[in-house]
Amino acid sequence: MTAVAEPDLKHELRALDAAHFLHPFTDHAALAAKGVRVITRAEGIWIWDADGHRILDGMSGLWCVNAGYGRRELAEAAYHQMRTLPFYNTFFQTTTEPPVRLARRLTELAPPVDGRRFTHVFFTSSGSEANDTHVRLVRRYWDLMGQPQRKVIISRWNAYHGSTVAAASLGGMRAMHEQGDLPIPGIVHIEQPYYWQHRQPGETPEAFGVRAARWLEEKILEVGPDKVAAFIAEPVQGAGGVIIPPSTYWPEVQRIVERYGILLISDEVICAFGRLGHWFAYERFGIKPDLVTFAKAVTSGYVPLGGVLVGERVARVLVEGGEFTHGYTYSGHPVACAVALANLDLMQRERLPERVRDDTGPYLAERFATLADHPLVGVAESCGMVAGLILTRDKATLEPFPEDWEVGLLCRQHCFDTGVVMRAVGARMIIAPPLVMTRADIDVMIDLIRRALDATWADLQRQGRV
Ligand code: PMP
Repeated sequence: MTAVAEPDLKHELRALDAAHFLHPFTDHAALAAKGVRVITRAEGIWIWDADGHRILDGMSGLWCVNAGYGRRELAEAAYHQMRTLPFYNTFFQTTTEPPVRLARRLTELAPPVDGRRFTHVFFTSSGSEANDTHVRLVRRYWDLMGQPQRKVIISRWNAYHGSTVAAASLGGMRAMHEQGDLPIPGIVHIEQPYYWQHRQPGETPEAFGVRAARWLEEKILEVGPDKVAAFIAEPVQGAGGVIIPPSTYWPEVQRIVERYGILLISDEVICAFGRLGHWFAYERFGIKPDLVTFAKAVTSGYVPLGGVLVGERVARVLVEGGEFTHGYTYSGHPVACAVALANLDLMQRERLPERVRDDTGPYLAERFATLADHPLVGVAESCGMVAGLILTRDKATLEPFPEDWEVGLLCRQHCFDTGVVMRAVGARMIIAPPLVMTRADIDVMIDLIRRALDATWADLQRQGRV
């Protein structure tokens, strides 16, 4: 494919963007001064900008394009469904074929836990709406169970669960809480299981994992076990910086939620659909959730869709409990669900979760770990097809660079300039590339990352900072 520069388009869109478009999580004055990057097309694992640069998409769009770009069958599924029935609601005691088939399909893909199946699905258009749904749904469940005092949901600092009022409250991003008096009442947080932040001298990751899980037990006892409705967590924290918990963390969390009878919500908006080498991440960690949040890669990001997978324990009570006064116009949108079905077909046919589990995941782990020999890098770790490294000025202590040096942003810029998308989260540089990557693609990506690290190091040397 040729790289065609489109400078006129770039200048026009830049000006219009600055004049009219409010971006998510963006300092608009700073962006306007710099000029937004215009992405014009994509194929496979590559995106192109209006300057004709080809860039390896190390973030799968935003953790979602698991099947890669340019998949014809997804476009055809959308076209066919739009021609047949572009929309009909599911409120008027009516249904349509795609959401019914997708609900069934998802409940088949999700393995049972302790013999209990996931039997039902509630559809939304995003991960945030799905997590909002949990807040209402778990409280409804406990009301129906005759325990209406069980309202509190426990989450973790530095978690990301979305951007609506309830989802941002569930999340543990302090910068989000500062804007708009969050969290809302009834949501409390514990520390994240981030070994490199919280380890004590001489403590192994395994010992730390158990200690971190017990923060949950302490919080349950502080709130009062009869007041806690649920614990929500990402199996691997994504937007928080790809925080991979020690192997001992989840089994201990599982023991604790069972002991106190509280519901467990696994937010798999990033981790499901092959990202960690399984259809659902709870399989990988031996978690036994009652509820699972999904979104993003259910359609490989081609159209918006999210939802909640509901396990037998909760579904039975809800189904028998009368009307649950909750729902969205687009709950079960036929086009979104048709694209999701085509996407799951494709992922099954190409065995993408198995490929990540058995081949590309282990290969990425091996190759990504080699970056730890770079003078800028403290730790380089991965899990399936997510990975993160720590930028540090001292490999022994992992001391970060001063925040106002903005080394992460500098590195991110060098990544773009070198031709690979990496995201900066504090001192961590992270990736979540498309699952269709081959070993050869992984080699190319690691080379690009190393070149971007070299360029960052050279800048810091020039500035006399290292
Ligand atoms: N949960 C998790 C774990 C996420 O990573 C995200 C988005 N990055 C969300 C929820 C929110 O999803 P959305 O942006 O689709 O609302």
